[in-house]
Amino acid sequence: MQVTTRTMQANKHIALVAHDNCKTHLLRWVSEHKDKLRDHTLYATGTTGHMLSRETGLEVNCLLSGPMGGDQQLGALISEGKIDMMIFFWDPLNAVPHDPDVKALLRISAVWNIPVATNRASANFMISSPKLEEEVDIEIPDYNAYLSERLD
Ligand code: PGA
Repeated sequence: MQVTTRTMQANKHIALVAHDNCKTHLLRWVSEHKDKLRDHTLYATGTTGHMLSRETGLEVNCLLSGPMGGDQQLGALISEGKIDMMIFFWDPLNAVPHDPDVKALLRISAVWNIPVATNRASANFMISSPKLEEEVDIEIPDYNAYLSERLD
């Protein structure tokens, strides 16, 4: 598929998700980086988001709980270009009931080429990037070109 570009604004829309065994790790990471995160627009799956806003005081746009459809809501926002990056501490040591949704979320993030951190080390790289505070162009699939090729 051909590609086109999308410009991420300096104010990033950041999705935060953690599976149950990883929620304390995400809370610690968000607390450590609260001052930077405050300058951006935060989204989260339901339980993660309510915990983060209660414990840190940050404003978080909370979706449904992940297993109840929150991962799919997030995937839809990513597909619509409304999420710029995602910190997703998924649990590599335990099965979750919504595994297909988790896989779909990771897949759609790859399709739309957003930066994704799946652990603290990668999240630290992302949060310390100068690009976090800048406008950034990313390549995305050119669906309009694809459609016109298919319809010609
Ligand atoms: P939760 O969902 O924040 O509602 O626990 C996390 C997930 O997607 O598994």
